[in-house]
Amino acid sequence: MIDSHCHLDLYPAAEDQLSSWLKQGLTALVTPSTDSASLQRLLVLARHFPGRVFPAAGVHPEQPVTPQLLEQAQQVARWVRQGGSRQLCAIGEVGLPCYSQEPPYHPISREIFALFARLAVDCDLPLIVHAVHDAAALALELLQQLGVRRAVFHWLKAPREVAQAIAAAGYCASLTPEICCMQRDGQLSDCFPLTQLLAETDGPYPQRLTADGGIEDTPTPLWTMRVHRALAARRHLPEQVIARQLDQNARQLFGLPASCADKI
Ligand SMILES: [Zn+2]
Repeated sequence: MIDSHCHLDLYPAAEDQLSSWLKQGLTALVTPSTDSASLQRLLVLARHFPGRVFPAAGVHPEQPVTPQLLEQAQQVARWVRQGGSRQLCAIGEVGLPCYSQEPPYHPISREIFALFARLAVDCDLPLIVHAVHDAAALALELLQQLGVRRAVFHWLKAPREVAQAIAAAGYCASLTPEICCMQRDGQLSDCFPLTQLLAETDGPYPQRLTADGGIEDTPTPLWTMRVHRALAARRHLPEQVIARQLDQNARQLFGLPASCADKI
């Protein structure tokens, strides 16, 4: 079972918790960074758990925009180009802000996203995109303009026609455990063939357990199986078939080794 998007560095006692999750059926996780300090921490965790922890390098778009943020993004990109890419499975988490800004977005936010999209193309790495709701359409346009071939729209939330365009462009979408309670998430997942879907938790960011958001909880990567179960019910397929396919999609997109194969 692969969690394709989890912020491992944000969990307290991450090493201990990860050891426990690995004993309970998790085989690997893709862990995007939010800034350069986050990336450094994830590289250490990846060295401690080889073949299990796969970091990505990026600067999260939902943070205060300052010239220093741009400098940080340029610094991370330089490190990736100077050989750091060998330690990465992707570029991310990058994108356009939705919760902290409105379209057409700060020029620095757009510049940082374009910088990382070009980096992904040049280094032949997939891009983990945070661009929800209003931001999704513009992000899709930028990816296509810049020639990004492999990308996943993480925690897909977009107007239906934009989700359909993302699928038609051949990009992936990842589903969180909120698919268990949010009708919208299930309906958007229908826009994608099974081969373009991934499962993620985005932990430790809280997940809704009820459609009105009245009850939330902190997910662990083990919640990935909730996504498998919900999608299996929706597609009328056995849970194992869904789990195998979604794991395979993650391995393929991020170039993960066969040793991450299902242990369900
Ligand atoms: Zn995230």
